[in-house]
Amino acid sequence: MGEGAKGGSIDERAAVALGAEIVSRCDQLAALTEEPGLLTRTYLTPMHKAVNARVAEWMGEAGLAARTDPLGNLVGRIEGTRAGARPVMIGSHLDTVRNAGRYDGIMGVIAGIAAVGELGRAGRRLPFPIEVVGFGDEEGVRFESALIGSRGMAGTLPDSMLATKDKQDITLARALTEFGLDPARIRAEARKQGDLRAYLEVHIEQGPVLERLGLPLGVVTAICGATRRRYHFAGEAGHAGTVPMAGRRDALGGAAEAVLAVEAVAREKGVVATVGQIAAEPGATNVIPGGASFTLDVRAERDVLRAEALAALDKRFAEIAKRRDLELTTQTFHDAPAAPCAPELQDLFARAIARVVGGEATRLPSGAGHDGMAMVAVAPIGMLFVRCRKGISHNPAEAVEARDVGLGALALIAALEDLAGRPDA
Ligand SMILES: [Zn+2]
Repeated sequence: MGEGAKGGSIDERAAVALGAEIVSRCDQLAALTEEPGLLTRTYLTPMHKAVNARVAEWMGEAGLAARTDPLGNLVGRIEGTRAGARPVMIGSHLDTVRNAGRYDGIMGVIAGIAAVGELGRAGRRLPFPIEVVGFGDEEGVRFESALIGSRGMAGTLPDSMLATKDKQDITLARALTEFGLDPARIRAEARKQGDLRAYLEVHIEQGPVLERLGLPLGVVTAICGATRRRYHFAGEAGHAGTVPMAGRRDALGGAAEAVLAVEAVAREKGVVATVGQIAAEPGATNVIPGGASFTLDVRAERDVLRAEALAALDKRFAEIAKRRDLELTTQTFHDAPAAPCAPELQDLFARAIARVVGGEATRLPSGAGHDGMAMVAVAPIGMLFVRCRKGISHNPAEAVEARDVGLGALALIAALEDLAGRPDA
């Protein structure tokens, strides 16, 4: 409400109509599921084939020539008017988690197609080619390794990944072959640094920030880096009735203090940190816990903040262990740096938001991972967030407003037209 008054040229009817079409297509794709009654669509399955076929039709209608790359990513391309101009890629993913929402990933692909379709309808040809990509695997459900589609495209997927097996003991190489693809082509067709002018992605926020601010769109500053660790405190198990409180080596007590330290340090350092799992050993009502293990997930927009938070936690945990006479062991099982969005592409989306919505665009980091994390290896990345209801995602309750989605697509069009008016540096 009132966003137009701040200087934007909101065309309410155009936004709602365009958004309704995109939302309707996302809803149609929700029928392509491996589990009746829920939305589950995983990598290199018959449903993956079906979604690629359906989306390829829409690409064709928008003027994009569609093909499937060696990883099963669906790539639609429309040529530009200037010979040799580098393509701008618009991407997101068509796979889902188990029991997923309808818009995570999918909305960004469909919005990209809609943007190209609208430009075509208006008779606008841009100087550069546009490629719209529906990545085959972002969520990592089938092979327990995320971003296979975009890492493959960026040339950063290790060859050893081809031997990774799914739960049915099918290797990635075999799954690709059975899908009709040639894994030997992955390296040859990977994009190289400098091939693309920009990688742009429109995605639902998957968090509550835009909704709280009352804003339909936001500019992403960076995809947060993340560290995941497992900790174990070892103390001494004992009889809950006979061992006095003084001198106990209660490992769960140590873990409880550690959980509170995680909250405190996260607030202090400006990161998000979560203990999502905790277990006491032996785990009986009448036994003092001799062991306690818990996980930690720390994410931050800047790697230096994440490192500072981890260092502060190491210090706090060591102090807890010492005071309680516990032994602490630490295992890091995931460590990924932040993927910063290019400042010029942040500004590009900020101008686009100012144009279609009005007002100064809000900038926010993405706490969730996205295909841009892989594409940043070969191209400057830019991301636009669209508000989603209550920030709910990875859940069938995921919901968006057609108007917000339409504004996202209009902002994407504005960004493409803006880029067209600037030299490719
Ligand atoms: Zn996603």
